[in-house]
Amino acid sequence: MSIKVVNLTYTYGKDTAFVKKALLGVDLEIDKGEFIGLIGHTGSGKSTLIQHFNGLLKRESGQVYINGKAIFDSSVNMKIIRQKVGLVFQYPEHQLFEMSIYKDVAFGPSNMGLNKDEIDFRVKEALTSVGIDEDLYESSPFDLSGGQKRRVAIAGVLAMKPDILILDEPTAGLDPKGRDEILDKIKTLHGRFGLTIILVSHNMENIVKYVNRVIVMDKGQIKMDGPTKEIFTQIDKLEEVGLAGPQMTYLVRKLNKRGFGLTTDRMTVEEVKVALLEELKITSKVER
Ligand code: ADP
Repeated sequence: MSIKVVNLTYTYGKDTAFVKKALLGVDLEIDKGEFIGLIGHTGSGKSTLIQHFNGLLKRESGQVYINGKAIFDSSVNMKIIRQKVGLVFQYPEHQLFEMSIYKDVAFGPSNMGLNKDEIDFRVKEALTSVGIDEDLYESSPFDLSGGQKRRVAIAGVLAMKPDILILDEPTAGLDPKGRDEILDKIKTLHGRFGLTIILVSHNMENIVKYVNRVIVMDKGQIKMDGPTKEIFTQIDKLEEVGLAGPQMTYLVRKLNKRGFGLTTDRMTVEEVKVALLEELKITSKVER
């Protein structure tokens, strides 16, 4: 499913003393199957924007099209849009409430009025895709580790079979192992089901490792938009809007200042490791 945003504006607290323009004319197109990283300083409007994608916030002006359909038209059934555009908020595990993991994940599909077999199929498929074993299904979600709880909460959204999955800081507060597990599962979902995924994150290492395209927001507008490597070679521009590049981009710069000749598109630990080994091999041959 594709998303198109045309001249979208939104203001909080209109006609009050606390008026705040949060979106100032956003234009954007996201194609089916893209894996997008949405980044921006706190308060830049990311959360306001993504809440328009499934109609949780009602536009002030402009329009959002999901698969070509204008979602703020009165004829549109918002319930269906919300099933198709799954939004996973920060700390989604705070919304777990059922006695068992199975029941928690079944809550969404049950509300959709599906039959028991379909619900069962969806619960199992969703929990399998986030790596939760069947022997845990009857456990209380509250007995799980932080990372597991979050994966169960994501499964609850997946069980509605969304075509677009939006995750707001899905790794916040998790240890490195939990972080990698979540992101690896999300990557697999993207590959296997062709989901369109939007990852909102402050963690540039995650963004550079997983997404194909980066959208940078600043003061309610889109400041940069392009392929991941293209965006992260423009560190000065990112710093202007209060962001930083992935740590490895700074290391590459420093090494190059000391005479290395690494290309600036090396941005992950693995990429820099390979580049350094190659460079050191060449240098040692020259020295010999
Ligand atoms: P981000 O997700 O990038 O941190 P937000 O979309 O949450 O940004 O916020 C954009 C702007 O709107 C900020 O200035 C923020 O203070 C303001 N804002 C967000 N939510 C509310 C709200 N419920 N009431 C008033 N202002 C808000």
